[in-house]
Amino acid sequence: MNKVLDVIKCKCPNCKEGKVFSDQGNILLLRMPKMNERCTECNFKFERETGFFFGAMFVSYALAVAQMIVCLVLFWHFVDLSPIRVYAIIATTTVLLSTVNFRLSRAIWIYIFYKN
Ligand SMILES: [Zn+2]
Repeated sequence: MNKVLDVIKCKCPNCKEGKVFSDQGNILLLRMPKMNERCTECNFKFERETGFFFGAMFVSYALAVAQMIVCLVLFWHFVDLSPIRVYAIIATTTVLLSTVNFRLSRAIWIYIFYKN
């Protein structure tokens, strides 16, 4: 459970103190999160090799699809909105959560390949 919290908080997998991102970003200001190259506390290098975060795109895709399915079920099945409104809600939610997905997917990817 602690690992899940550390991933959500984007903490360094090595020391659990340093932060992976120096800036959380803001989609409303069109600013993406800024990632630290190394941990500020223990100097752990987050990008293990060139192109390491390519695989995080697949994690981000999975997160986005899961959020879309939740929106679809919630607003179509339970709230019973029209398909075009559900589509608009899904598109808006996906855009608004894009920076969250960006940070979470990279944190998940780092933790997947971190070995103690
Ligand atoms: Zn660290």
